[in-house]
Order: sequence, then C-alpha cells, then structure tokens
Amino acid sequence: MVSHIAVIGGGPAGLRAAEILAEAGYAVTLFDQKPTVGRKFLLAGRGGLNLTHSEPVPQFLKKYGAAQSLMARALALFSPEDLRAWCHGLGFETFVGTSGRVYPKGMKATPLLRAWLHKLNRLGVIFAPRHAWIGWNGDALSFKTADGQTVEFKADATLIALGGASWPHLGSDGHWTETLRAQSIPLVPLRPANCGFIVEWSEIFRARHAGEPLKPVTLSFAGRSQRGEIMITQNGVEGSLIYAFGAALRDAIEADGKAPITLDLRPDITTDALTARLSRPRGSQSLANHLRKAAGLSPLAASLLREGARDLPPDPAVLAGRIKAMPLTLVATGPLARAISSAGGVRLDALTGDLMLKAKPGVFIAGEMMDWEAPTGGYLIQGCFSTAALAAQGMRKWVDQTAV
Ligand SMILES: Cc1cc2nc3c(=O)[nH]c(=O)nc-3n(C[C@H](O)[C@H](O)[C@H](O)COP(=O)(O)OP(=O)(O)OC[C@H]3O[C@@H](n4cnc5c(N)ncnc54)[C@H](O)[C@@H]3O)c2cc1C
Repeated sequence: MVSHIAVIGGGPAGLRAAEILAEAGYAVTLFDQKPTVGRKFLLAGRGGLNLTHSEPVPQFLKKYGAAQSLMARALALFSPEDLRAWCHGLGFETFVGTSGRVYPKGMKATPLLRAWLHKLNRLGVIFAPRHAWIGWNGDALSFKTADGQTVEFKADATLIALGGASWPHLGSDGHWTETLRAQSIPLVPLRPANCGFIVEWSEIFRARHAGEPLKPVTLSFAGRSQRGEIMITQNGVEGSLIYAFGAALRDAIEADGKAPITLDLRPDITTDALTARLSRPRGSQSLANHLRKAAGLSPLAASLLREGARDLPPDPAVLAGRIKAMPLTLVATGPLARAISSAGGVRLDALTGDLMLKAKPGVFIAGEMMDWEAPTGGYLIQGCFSTAALAAQGMRKWVDQTAV
C-alpha cells in the first residue's frame, strides 16, 4: 500500500521535501494557503537568487551559530555542492560570484521555479492551493479553503514547513505559532533577522542621504570587525554588512535598548597616515572640502561624521581617530514584516534528531519555521533545503516502520 504524505507549505523547504518523497515513491499532497507556491523564493530572485555559498563547509556551518550541530547533520545529507547539482539537474548552471556567493546563471528564480514545479508534477505531487492549515481534528489535518469550508486530510506522515513571518503577504504570516502553541509545542518568539536597524538621523541627513550606500566601511561591534557596505535608509541602516552582525545587534538592543557600533570610514589607510593628511594646511577650504580632499571622505561619510557631533575636533590626530572609529548608535530593529528572515520558531529541543515533533509523532518540521538563523549569503535557502532533506529522511523511516 502506498503511504500518503502531507506537505504543508510550498516554500523551498516544503517543495524540496515533496520532491525527495515523491522520488522515493510516496503519494505526496502539498498544501499551501496561497493560490501559488514559492512566492518568497521568487522575491529572493529579485536580488539574483543567492542559492548557497561556496566557502568550505566548516566555515559555512559557523554562520548558523547555536544551530550548527543541527545544520552539520542536515548539510551532511544535502550539501552546498548537492544544491548546485540539483539546480544543474533542473537545467540551470550555477556560478560563484566575487563574494563566494552562488547564483543560478541568469540570476532568476522564475524559470527555475517553473522547471521545479514541472518536475514535481511529473513525479505525481498533488498540489492543493488555497488550503490554510488551521490545526488537527484528532489524527486528521484541518484546512480552511478559500470558500470558507473546512476540509480534513489523513496522512501517514506530515511535514510542516510554513516559513517565518517576514513579508507576510507572500504567505508566511506566522499564524502557525498560535496553532502550535495551542498544542503546547515549545516555541521561541519570532523576531526579525537580516533586518534593518533604526538610527535617529537628523532631518537634514535623512533628506540628503537616504538611499545612498556607504562603502567601503569597516563595522566593529562586540570585539568583531568586518568590512563591507552599508545602505543608509530613511530610518537607519541596512545591507549585508549590517545583516552579518544582525543577531548580535538585535540581542544587544533587546538587552540594553541600544547597540553602539563603530565605523571605520577610511579602512584603507592607517590612523597615522590619515593624521598626516589632515595636518596639511587647510587654507581657505571649508571643513567639508578638507575632509574630502585631504582625508578622501565621500560626501556621505563626511556628513555621517558630523551627525550628532556639530563640532569636529580640530586636532588632526583626534579627528583621524574619529574617522577611524566613528560611533553610531542603533536604537531598535526594523519591523519583522520587512525583514529578510525570521529568528525564533519551533525550539530545536522540541524535535527528534529526524526533525519530528516529540509531542506529535509523525509530524515533522523543516525550513525557516525552526529556531535557527543565519546571515544573508545563501545560508537561508541552503538551510531550508538541507533541513527538508533531513526531515524527508526521517519521514521515510517513520512511514516505513509504522507500515510494518
Ligand atoms: C526580500 C527577500 C530576499 C531573499 N533573498 C534570499 C536569497 O537570495 N538567498 C537566500 O538564501 N534566502 C533569501 N531569502 C530568504 C528565503 O527566501 C527564505 O528563508 C525561504 O523562502 C524560507 O523557506 P521556507 O520554505 O522555510 O518558507 P517560505 O518560503 O516562507 O514558504 C512558506 C510557505 O508556507 C505557506 N504557509 C504559511 N502558513 C500556512 C498555513 N497556515 N497553511 C498553508 N500554507 C501556509 C506560505 O504560503 C508559503 O508558501 C530572502 C527573503 C526575502 C524576504
């Protein structure tokens, strides 16, 4: 007898698990509350679809922080190389960008998703769109359909892969937290990850510089420094360099109400060399011109230096020190709805090694709805694919052992 699998959630995690299980010969039905699947995956495609990263796995794993041991097991089953091979198998070559990030050639999600859905159809996966999962009725899964009906489905094993709560209009709205909390499943509250941070800019600075990139710059926080690029927004800062520190910045704000960072606005030059340059006679030049010509600061960097410090120190050595370590205070995280991903979710200790809910035998979890987080760089989609592979392996074991 063929075992029936329910996959709830048509993001990368649910789609990948459906593919593995359909390839293994199970009858898979994939439910999603939206009319179409993969909406956030398509949005990721607008930024080029960074599928994974090319760095060695030990370095790769460090990006998952406290969830490293889970991800070590998941990546052992489906590695970054496997993800590239999978993409190739669908007819799309990948390439490594200058930062080591991996993209499909063409950098588009739409044709890749189309090919993937064709494959799932060929494998016999049944799609049930406009089915919002609302919980269980006894052993059966309950769904609310678009016409307001409640329908039920009995599965031999279920995968729940409902994502986090960012960009909720795309489908992952986090409402599942109420459903699982009602079942006493241990959860960590969903919080923004890879999000912008709020800075109290002056009106003048905001009007002049919102939307401009600050680069190159080195950000230091809590004993760590990294070079990159920061985007100035209406209300603060965002961008890959900010996301790289995101979890630590968010945790500091939660604990202390603020995260004081320092920025090196001239990372290519030493403090001594900068002091020597700033010691040149200024003549009749304005300070802004002197900073631009002698210190090589961009207009944005020069304005930033003067934000919150009306009078810059006249002493060249002190001024150089300020340029090399400019303090900036982040006072809050940006909203979860606008974050790239969510931290928090189903606690890892609520799951078996196969990602089955200890409190709900036969129900497995994968993707962003689990309590792990990672910076941008391809670690999110890779984490979703790899946890889907781990859960799918567990589901196969589960249905095969319960069928005998
Ligand atoms: C702007 C942006 C850019 C990004 N770029 C990248 C990138 O380049 N690289 C990268 O690695 N990551 C990127 N990400 C993150 C990545 O897209 C997500 O981490 C990933 O999509 C999460 O996959 P998932 O399968 O866990 O959940 P999701 O993709 O969120 O899918 C969850 C699915 O579950 C469905 N669902 C939710 N609740 C219910 C319910 N109650 N009943 C039925 N269905 C439900 C939703 O409709 C949705 O289809 C980006 C995210 C954003 C917002």
